[in-house]
Amino acid sequence: MTSRRDFIRTIVLASGSIYTLELIGCGQGARPVARTYPSVTQRQRTAIAHKLRQQSLVLPTPARQQRTDVAIVGSGMAGLTAAMHLQQQGYQVTILESEPRSGGAAVRQRVGTSDVSLGSVYFVDMTQDVRDVLSYAGVEAIPVGDDAYVVGGETYTDFWSDAQLRRAAASAAEADAMRRFRDTVLALGDAFPAYPLADALSDHVRQLDATSARAYIAPYNSPLLTSVLDAYCRSSMGGNLDDVNAHCLLNFYSAEFGASFGGERYTVMGGPSSIARGLAARTTIQHDECVLRIAQEGSGVQIDSMRPDGSVTRTTARTVIVAAPKFVASRIVQGLPDVQRNAMQQLQYAPYMTVHVASTGSMLSTPAFDTWHIPATETYTDIVSAPQPARRPGSTHVCSIYAPLRRTERATALDDDAMAQRVGHIMADMLVHAPVGAADGITEIYAWAWGHGIVIPTVGSHLQASLHVRRPHGRVVFAGTDNDASPAIENAIASGIRSAADVLRLLRS
Ligand SMILES: Cc1cc2nc3c(=O)[nH]c(=O)nc-3n(C[C@H](O)[C@H](O)[C@H](O)COP(=O)(O)OP(=O)(O)OC[C@H]3O[C@@H](n4cnc5c(N)ncnc54)[C@H](O)[C@@H]3O)c2cc1C
Repeated sequence: MTSRRDFIRTIVLASGSIYTLELIGCGQGARPVARTYPSVTQRQRTAIAHKLRQQSLVLPTPARQQRTDVAIVGSGMAGLTAAMHLQQQGYQVTILESEPRSGGAAVRQRVGTSDVSLGSVYFVDMTQDVRDVLSYAGVEAIPVGDDAYVVGGETYTDFWSDAQLRRAAASAAEADAMRRFRDTVLALGDAFPAYPLADALSDHVRQLDATSARAYIAPYNSPLLTSVLDAYCRSSMGGNLDDVNAHCLLNFYSAEFGASFGGERYTVMGGPSSIARGLAARTTIQHDECVLRIAQEGSGVQIDSMRPDGSVTRTTARTVIVAAPKFVASRIVQGLPDVQRNAMQQLQYAPYMTVHVASTGSMLSTPAFDTWHIPATETYTDIVSAPQPARRPGSTHVCSIYAPLRRTERATALDDDAMAQRVGHIMADMLVHAPVGAADGITEIYAWAWGHGIVIPTVGSHLQASLHVRRPHGRVVFAGTDNDASPAIENAIASGIRSAADVLRLLRS
């Protein structure tokens, strides 16, 4: 008999709409139905930077000149946090941002009548630094509920409890192995692999950094644990179990066992982009300024940026914080030592797509903040549905599908048709799990892509980061989650604070 999985097919694709063929009903009464979903595909801007790289573009004479105490390149959470700290000390700060909106990975989009996060959706560590940022941004944290895991057609919440593990695992031995993994991570205590990284890594941290996540979990010998963690690594770190290091896996996953194990997680109304917007509203940000050259001249720094119309702005500052990713920093900062430039260029970044499906009813059989279909397909890892307190009442229901791409698939994130095709495959895979008839309620599909969405905490990357990547270079200081090669909001905030402290030392010396 033909199954729904066999039958849901993307048949025609084009920018502006996605067509699928779906089997409705079952058995003899089943009939194929073609559907058309209005869709939009958009992406981060790359044209100016790519042109510079491919054509060795010579910058025209600056059309505008400006001065500031501190220039910051990039208005992600790291750059915005650094700006907050420096402004609180009375310094004049100007952020140059290549995109038309602030936030970096913390951006959102109106889909239907809902504001949906296109990238980061939650954070876990309610540190004093995070509280300070939330308070300055004027937003409040909202706890999100536990995840749902769909394994073998059954849905599990409180998945990591002993009772649910017994049900979900293939055998008592596997349930026991998963319990041991959980208890080992929760009992790490002083051996907890923390961020931010120290300048000198302990032997324990070096060992975890040098171990792949797959090697670390191999002794548990559990296919279910492997599937769950592989999906998690792809979703949260942009790489699979072979790519990412055990240090980052243990740090990140320690907050994922659910509320029963103290794993509180938070978002804010409208998603983390509300934090970015709150911070951005209190600083000077110049959007559409793609920084292409940073050079130390005399006692200051010259920063040249290009607008989409090709005109150049020259900003002269006492110091600069580069809070753009390191593959960008390595190309725009003049005079970097080879060892630092090479280390920056060795960091790996995953291309990433998120697909946001607006519908009249839920596309998920069990409402949860984050739903994992295990084993995850090649096309997507998990589906986020913002909890009610974080959505405006009555706004359109939207579920957000997280679809990290392999590094070899970067071109998909650069092209409308390739993206639309990928969206078709993602939708086909996702509809297999949707309640029958849910597809009838889809009103709109919005897809967004980053060419370099997330820094991958690859094996060995933490040592490289702590030794070379984030070292200040004269009056040029670095910030960003890739300072520690660990993609999380808290780490972006921590690096912003650290870079502001470096700048204060420079300005006062
Ligand atoms: C899809 C996705 C989901 C994620 N989910 C989560 C999550 O739920 N929780 C979590 O903690 N983390 C999540 N992350 C990780 C996220 O990367 C961090 O949390 C954090 O937001 C990164 O902040 P950042 O400031 O280091 O870098 P970014 O946010 O990348 O900011 C860098 C900024 O620099 C700008 N820029 C780049 N080049 C230039 C240039 N030449 N000139 C001027 N500006 C430039 C960029 O436009 C961007 O605004 C997610 C990431 C992605 C991609």
